[in-house]
Amino acid sequence: MSTSLLYHAFGIRGYRYTRTDYQGGQVIFTIHQERENCRCSACGSTHVVSRGQVERRFRALPIGSRATFVALPIPRVECRTCGAVRQVEVSFADSRRSYTSSFERYALELGRRMTIRDVAVHLGVGWDLIKDIQKRDLSRRFAKPKLKHLRHIAIDEIAIAKGHRYLTIVMDLETGAVVFVGDGKGADALKPFWKRLRPSGAKIAAVAMDMSAAYRRAVATNLPKAKIVFDRFHVVKLFNDKLSDLRRALHREATDVLHKEVLKGTRWLLLKNPENLDAAKDEKRRLEEALALNKPLATAYYMKEELRQFWEQPGKRFATLFLDSWIRRAGASGIKMLHQMAATLAAYRSGLLAYYEVMITSGPMEGTNNKIKTMKRQAYGFRDREFFKLKILAIHETRYVLVG
Ligand SMILES: [Zn+2]
Repeated sequence: MSTSLLYHAFGIRGYRYTRTDYQGGQVIFTIHQERENCRCSACGSTHVVSRGQVERRFRALPIGSRATFVALPIPRVECRTCGAVRQVEVSFADSRRSYTSSFERYALELGRRMTIRDVAVHLGVGWDLIKDIQKRDLSRRFAKPKLKHLRHIAIDEIAIAKGHRYLTIVMDLETGAVVFVGDGKGADALKPFWKRLRPSGAKIAAVAMDMSAAYRRAVATNLPKAKIVFDRFHVVKLFNDKLSDLRRALHREATDVLHKEVLKGTRWLLLKNPENLDAAKDEKRRLEEALALNKPLATAYYMKEELRQFWEQPGKRFATLFLDSWIRRAGASGIKMLHQMAATLAAYRSGLLAYYEVMITSGPMEGTNNKIKTMKRQAYGFRDREFFKLKILAIHETRYVLVG
């Protein structure tokens, strides 16, 4: 090792090489700073007098699988210009950290290919140290996304733990980027978003969301000019939930064993789009058999399939006729579940039709939600909630391995 190798290979300049020690498989380079190069870290003055030194050791780039450290006695100086007594600055590390800046960059680089756990094992450090390095980097780049350009957004909540713990996610529908992650759900969760949005000058034209009253009121209050689009995805999901409830109720009430058995196997078939029914598994026939036995279930099922065509209409006029006809027929069906659905869609009619003015859906949000669920399973969401939220803000970037 030499002063010039330290500079060229380890990025450490402005110090003199002293010696190398080998301790328990580790390599330790000791370096020192010439007193004449010392400056006051408060005002930058070179008029300083020595006041001792503080021994520090920084983890540096490994040599192969061998951990390497840089040991440096950091001079303490008293400044003749401003009077401060403090350690001089270290050029190759943040003096609050236990590793060099090049070690940090290397760990970040590895994180683009490896999980946090793999990076930690490879570098012989703890999981938390690598996580903290990634967290600071994510924080620098993603903690405060620019909001000025926002035009179309989607708002949705995602359950992150049992016991009804939620996060509220705001997505830029034009770029697919998550621009806000709030704690909890409902209007309160969005408050910090409005606070940041106001000074940004963004002109949000439309918001896609589910039919929850809380988000609707919050958006109406904070973005009075924005169009609210009740989202296709959420309408179908609500319908599917109700259809499952109906199937369960029918199954409970069925007295005939065969009838019960037929219903039992149809849970997933009812929720599938008909074009996705698997011919090899005879799914179409099984579904039809169950529907033939259950008039109310069949009616509800076909009404659901028909409702999907609402989003395939050639324009708002056709869509209006279609929706009103659907609501009327569902209301006259004599099936309680369809009555409820008709009432809900009637209440949200203008937000459903708004789709024909701004054709947005929360579709892109679904892919993101699936990625969040994958991260959630890795459990670090609970070890460090802020880190979890930053990972969500960075989710559209493939810069880091998502899990681990
Ligand atoms: Zn000074």
